[in-house]
Amino acid sequence: MALILDGKAVAAAYKAKIKAKVDALAAQNITCGLAILLVGNDAASRIYADRLVKLATGLGVQAVVRHLPADATEEEVLALVCELNEDDHIHGILPMMPLPPHLATDRVAAALAPDKDVDALHPLNAGLVATGKSRWAPCTPRAVMAILDYYQIDVSGKHAVVIGRSNVVGKPLAHLLLGQNATVTVCHSKTRDLAALTRQADVIVAAVGRPALIGPDMVRPGAVVIDVGINEVNGAVVGDVDYDAVFPIAGAITPVPGGVGAVTTVMVVEAALRSFGDL
Ligand code: NAD
Repeated sequence: MALILDGKAVAAAYKAKIKAKVDALAAQNITCGLAILLVGNDAASRIYADRLVKLATGLGVQAVVRHLPADATEEEVLALVCELNEDDHIHGILPMMPLPPHLATDRVAAALAPDKDVDALHPLNAGLVATGKSRWAPCTPRAVMAILDYYQIDVSGKHAVVIGRSNVVGKPLAHLLLGQNATVTVCHSKTRDLAALTRQADVIVAAVGRPALIGPDMVRPGAVVIDVGINEVNGAVVGDVDYDAVFPIAGAITPVPGGVGAVTTVMVVEAALRSFGDL
């Protein structure tokens, strides 16, 4: 039976630190500002953005959604990024992904002021993460590392298998795990015999977006299983791991919901406070 890695408990610990920081800034008449850039009408992005605003506001960070229509031109999006870059009341900017297909994600990322770049999308920040020189990283990989840290799961010398190689989750997470001296294997849609690799893993991180991709036959007894995936199945939110079947085998496992996602949202708010130093 696995230890349940409770994202809400990890989030609560971070919220307390955030609140202390916000209160210290308030004593100096400083209010931290977070801008969420939402282009188009993707329902999931809208829900996520509203959730972030509620969380940030509750913690005393002023959060605002800046919404542009789905047919906004690249010039309009870049102009808004520029405006937010120059706004002294805004300390963090998070563009909701994916952007509508006619917009070049790379150019929007490169337009962000690197020190306001909440999800480390700017190539400078991505490069620093890849070279292990950054104290920063995208929010979801940081959430995974925060869960491991909270539960004192040492990955040094362990084999971590990361499934998914996106620039915002899989790749930066692989770098963070390497930075903690894990031996990292990154798997993706073209990986042959995924199960043969996951069965060798001490730590499995699934970040794909496919329900029940990781079944019990793919998990070595006692392995740590971190489920980043968010999928909707029959109106319910599930991860990439067949939770009920893997639970009796794994040594530790994150639930969905209440796992990585619960910590990621808090990491976004924390990121907005970055310009005021570490928590
Ligand atoms: P993405 O679509 O950019 O990347 C998915 C990755 O999965 C790709 O690298 C692809 O190669 C790989 N993949 C696809 N099919 C595969 C297969 N059959 N076997 C192995 N690998 C396969 O997605 P993303 O932005 O990295 O997000 C991944 C998942 O994590 C999604 O479900 C997303 O909703 C979720 N997510 C959760 C959080 C959170 O806070 N919990 C945050 C961000 C993303």
